[in-house]
Amino acid sequence: MCGGRRSPKLLATKRTQLNTDARRRLFDHTPDTLRAFLTDLDEPEYRADQILEWVYRRGARGFDQMTNLPKALRQRLAERLYLYESQIVQCARAGDGVTRFLLRWADGETAECVSIPADDRRTACISTQVGCPVGCVFCASGIDGVRRDLSAGQIVEQAMVVAHQAEDDTRLSNIVFMGMGEPLVNYDATIRAVRTINAAWGVNIGARKITISTIGLPKQMRRLAHEDLQVTLALSLHAPTDELRRELIPWAKGVTIAQLVEAARYYFDRTGREVTLEYVLLADVNDRPEHARQLADLARRMRCNVNLILYNPVEGFPYKRPGEASAHAFLHHLRARGTNAHLRSSRGLDVDGACGQLRRRE
Ligand code: SF4
Repeated sequence: MCGGRRSPKLLATKRTQLNTDARRRLFDHTPDTLRAFLTDLDEPEYRADQILEWVYRRGARGFDQMTNLPKALRQRLAERLYLYESQIVQCARAGDGVTRFLLRWADGETAECVSIPADDRRTACISTQVGCPVGCVFCASGIDGVRRDLSAGQIVEQAMVVAHQAEDDTRLSNIVFMGMGEPLVNYDATIRAVRTINAAWGVNIGARKITISTIGLPKQMRRLAHEDLQVTLALSLHAPTDELRRELIPWAKGVTIAQLVEAARYYFDRTGREVTLEYVLLADVNDRPEHARQLADLARRMRCNVNLILYNPVEGFPYKRPGEASAHAFLHHLRARGTNAHLRSSRGLDVDGACGQLRRRE
């Protein structure tokens, strides 16, 4: 069994152990807050632009590399700010180039991020929380519930780690918030991180190349629609009926699929951005022809496209990955009903491909 056994109330209490000391991480800063920080140090504001240029454009890994800053300032910055707070404590590279990193933060907590190369580009899959409150019964990340939120800077730092760890010329082009945690529970930090990742002064990734994946919090989905961000919203449905969904995602029992249909429609109507339905295929659980028919009906009502994901088995969990033939049959059923659907290739299977496994082992 998984993290969903804990009551949401208890998880919410644990989640209040926040670690959002914005003053202590460079990646938590915007140009404005960094200027204010420098003003407090009696330094000229223009130093903020120099620092951001070093970090985001020139790939500096330490303040000592910022050679156009006075040595005394570099020293003061190093005493007051983390540039890279995390240490990579595990790194597992699969034969297909997918690399999973386990990062340890200054307080000893750990989170995973993943580098997924494809041709000349690279996607970073990043986490928003340490652990996950949702506790889907098939997922290793939620097994012990959530320990704390990550700050905006800690979320951004994962993208930067992936950008700098490339062993080839691939450039970071896409960001998916699909690692550990529920991004819309850690809403403010997630949105701040998205803005930094999207900003020309920051990581500089186009909003349309950023995907936020949620288990489905209707209120926050509506709120996101008003953020004036052109990000892609992915809704992890995983089951086409309330009954089955409550079995797979016990934490979501207070939310009905009908409410999600409305929220997804609202997001589409407000932003013009089609929502993607994520659907993990579990053998003999949610991969039958009637499930495909029900899912196609929902996708039509929500105006969504569908991403099918072949389950990456987790040691000790009873769920199995469907065979290729049955996955393609499911895809065929969807397409036959006019659904825009894709079967996502599974990557990194030889390095504990499922989210949360490195951390679990550590
Ligand atoms: S699948 Fe996603 S939402 Fe579900 S427990 Fe894992 S990390 Fe959390």
